[in-house]
Amino acid sequence: MTGDNRDDRLAKNESLFREHNERIEPHNAVHTWVNPAFADWICECADEGCSVPVRLTVAEYEAVRLKATRFLVAPSEDHVMPDAECIIRREERYWIVEKRGRAAEVSEKFDPRSRQPSER
Ligand SMILES: [Zn+2]
Repeated sequence: MTGDNRDDRLAKNESLFREHNERIEPHNAVHTWVNPAFADWICECADEGCSVPVRLTVAEYEAVRLKATRFLVAPSEDHVMPDAECIIRREERYWIVEKRGRAAEVSEKFDPRSRQPSER
């Protein structure tokens, strides 16, 4: 298997987790969260067996979704693939990674928010 195929597959895995989080967002958004106002999301790392819960406010989640190449992961190196992405933010509860190169292209292709005709 070539490296490109592997990267494609891993980026697709991450996109699937992102779709899951996109689906639960409306539920998380309508909930009235007590202090601290964190909702439960799942780690969007490339490991398809990983579904570690990650806690972010809806606003923090929205900040990740602003770019198609950004993914939300659990705060540990175990959830980061340094050859395909770099860590752009380290919080106590979560990290944000950004895809590079080919993995970034695949991420954009699979971004559920890019399917709408209007540009953001
Ligand atoms: Zn993970």
